[in-house]
Amino acid sequence: MSPVATKVPVSYLVDELTFNEKVDRSLALLAEAFSEYGEALVVANSLGKDSVAVWHLAKRVSPEIRGFIVTTRFKPPETIEFMQEQVQAYPEMRVYRNEEPIPEDLYADDPDRCCELLKVKPTRWAIEEMGVRCWVTGLRCTEGRTRTDYQEVEQRDEGLLKLNPILLWKEREVWQYLALNNVPVNPLYAKGYRSLGCAPCTKITTDENERAGRWIGTSKCGGECGIHTRPLKS
Ligand code: SF4
Repeated sequence: MSPVATKVPVSYLVDELTFNEKVDRSLALLAEAFSEYGEALVVANSLGKDSVAVWHLAKRVSPEIRGFIVTTRFKPPETIEFMQEQVQAYPEMRVYRNEEPIPEDLYADDPDRCCELLKVKPTRWAIEEMGVRCWVTGLRCTEGRTRTDYQEVEQRDEGLLKLNPILLWKEREVWQYLALNNVPVNPLYAKGYRSLGCAPCTKITTDENERAGRWIGTSKCGGECGIHTRPLKS
């Protein structure tokens, strides 16, 4: 892969492509990857707006495409409820959760370690158990300072392709797609959140940066949990 993805800088394409061109491009990327990887292509679903958009796009490519959700003991009740609805609607979506004991305030004392245990580790389990060779994410390059340098198709781990089919979409275009296709979203958006995560580490902000409400007051502020930055295969 991939004839669809090009070497043209993504920052240029973000502004040059129309909404419909982006949708077509995302579908083409997914179709191309699915024809190559089949059931080894799996969508990672964080239950945020970007993930449900990617899931909807993937299902347009093939209803057979599977997915996984990584949840934690700290997810807000609204996200848990939304997750249950999603799994009921799509039994081919598996849920992974690390139940091992951790210090109660680890998220405050060492959020990197907390995310490593509760998010990165179960993501590795999912990739291993589901035989994933191509994982699909809802990552977008305009989400914040940590997401500007990704590509639509990446090979970070040996034997594991990463596909970011909506990398070029702006926040507004995600909402446009979801509205036009009547896709249900996590009810936390109605409360004013723009980026969703675990309850202790996610706040509503007025900042321009979409991910500014994540890990406020820590060195991770506006940053990453680690699934996009750390190795996922040993
Ligand atoms: S987002 Fe916060 S609570 Fe959730 S795993 Fe990371 S540090 Fe822990």
